[in-house]
Amino acid sequence: MPERILIVEDEPAIAEAVEYALKAEGFEVEAVDDGNDALEQARTRPYDLLVLDLMLPGLSGIEVCRRLREESPVPILMLTAKDGEVDRVLGLEVGADDYVAKPFSMPELVARVRALLRRRKLDSGERTTKLRVGELELDLAKHEARLADEHVPLTAFELKLLALLAAEPGHVFSRREIMAHLWNSSYVGDERACDLHVSNIRRKIERDPAQPERLVTVRGSGYKLQPL
Ligand code: CA
Repeated sequence: MPERILIVEDEPAIAEAVEYALKAEGFEVEAVDDGNDALEQARTRPYDLLVLDLMLPGLSGIEVCRRLREESPVPILMLTAKDGEVDRVLGLEVGADDYVAKPFSMPELVARVRALLRRRKLDSGERTTKLRVGELELDLAKHEARLADEHVPLTAFELKLLALLAAEPGHVFSRREIMAHLWNSSYVGDERACDLHVSNIRRKIERDPAQPERLVTVRGSGYKLQPL
């Protein structure tokens, strides 16, 4: 069943472009242009994700987000005009899951939407507790990893990082996505911490950590896990 997304945006050109892009990705999409309608709609119909503009007539995006947060865990992607609003939007006060600053490209928006939906699946009970990628096996319930049936000692962060990558073998995850997953937050701080975890993991799962074959760097993009 396609995932259902609600777009809340009062600028028709942006609303239409976002709707078009998400429908082209196979999502079921509905759109409203007012904060009060958004709240009512989100309360009465089950959505998998909201794309929510910050500046709206009626009720502001911030207010919509804040109220929904008290009632529902639905992932919320905020559209913001200025980067300066980001801390507030993602903070406890408002509680959005992620944001895209205007102007944004449609591929960027689609990537953010997909990342949020993926994260939600991993965080919810829908996930399987065992993941296998090539010879690497993760048992998330037992907090164990095995490589070719040999126990691999991983820290909690390392296991969580591998679980994200193993959920979609071959898919490239950005540092930002990885850090957001590790911290359950979109405010990720220093992305070099991601590289540090990766190099620690490589020492444990690669034949030659200097020439990684499993946990591979994709230059300029991020990391992916190869089935080996
Ligand atoms: Ca607006």
